[in-house]
Amino acid sequence: MIKFQVTTKSGTEMIDVTVQVRDAVEKSKLKDGVCLVFVPHTTAGVTINENADPAVRRDMLVELNKLVPERDYFTHAEGNSAGHIKSSLIGNTKQIIVENGRLALGTWQGIYFCEFDGPREREVWIKVTE
Ligand code: ZN
Repeated sequence: MIKFQVTTKSGTEMIDVTVQVRDAVEKSKLKDGVCLVFVPHTTAGVTINENADPAVRRDMLVELNKLVPERDYFTHAEGNSAGHIKSSLIGNTKQIIVENGRLALGTWQGIYFCEFDGPREREVWIKVTE
């Protein structure tokens, strides 16, 4: 397993980690297989989406925050239930095909670490297998 750190700077944020994942695949020396990207947190996630226009990320976060705001009736003592819910909606795992030693992503796709209860020090775990 390969791990790397992500430092988030705000409450909700999407951070491009495509380069770090690509580096992990290169380090593994695997030619053909699957790269598993796993986020070991309960108020964060990982998604694949457009890497060209940053407005897409902004719009996604605005809408997610509208969809799941913090509610007066939430009972979780830590006060971050909205983050837990968004984490489950987005999910904490992605799989990407590795072909000829490279991540097989679409032209406009990037891999994003999604922070839902920042700022925090976070980790991403990578497993590359045949
Ligand atoms: Zn909590």
